[in-house]
Amino acid sequence: SDHSLDYPASPQELDWNEHYPAFMGTGKTPEFADIGCGFGGLLISLAPLFPETLMLGMEIRVQVSQYVQDRIAALRTTSATPSSLAPSPYQNVSIVRANAMKFLPNFFPKHSLTALFFLFPDPHFKSRKHKARIISPTLLAEYAYVLRPGGIIYTITDVRDLHEWMKSHLEAFPLFESVSEDTLREQGLGQILDAVYTSTEEGKKVERNGGDKWLACFKRIEPTRNV
Ligand code: SAM
Repeated sequence: SDHSLDYPASPQELDWNEHYPAFMGTGKTPEFADIGCGFGGLLISLAPLFPETLMLGMEIRVQVSQYVQDRIAALRTTSATPSSLAPSPYQNVSIVRANAMKFLPNFFPKHSLTALFFLFPDPHFKSRKHKARIISPTLLAEYAYVLRPGGIIYTITDVRDLHEWMKSHLEAFPLFESVSEDTLREQGLGQILDAVYTSTEEGKKVERNGGDKWLACFKRIEPTRNV
């Protein structure tokens, strides 16, 4: 249950300085959110590539989120370069233990995210469990709220049925538009896509087992105005 979890009542109550002390005074909030980040592979590979972008992982399992927190703390220490004036890497990455299906808007202000990642989410195979899936019409309204117009939802899975499910729900939602991998690469987002495919622990496992990977990306669009 969520009783042991500590949630901010609203994003204003969150003190991001605790998560990103090196960015204190910048007024920055996270722009990338990795939902169900697991062991943190995506964030750890993206952090040095986008050193000025704050990134947050959300993970519901206690031990796993603690592991990621320790991993980030260790990286911040061991990567520190005292002789250099440059801020040490990994200052821009952090994690919260949270149920992302319940409390996303408590963490992220409206239109604050430029990227939302759903990488190899739990498939919940049985139909009666489909409501537990992380992509659903109700949740898509929340994702549209926290994503800035132009922001991207990245989904990838090795389960074809889940891929079709996520794709069809996103296609049916008026505030999202499908965007091809080629288009994203042309827009300079190739490094992100490469990390989506290969950087996570689950993605590596699928690779070892020779499984397929199904990618689907969607852009948050502006609603069409009535004239
Ligand atoms: N994205 C990671 C990767 O690619 O390696 C982890 C994939 S793993 C199959 C799915 C993760 O989502 C698990 O770590 C699980 O604990 C987490 N998770 C499931 N439901 C969640 C929720 N409602 N909120 C946050 N995390 C959740």
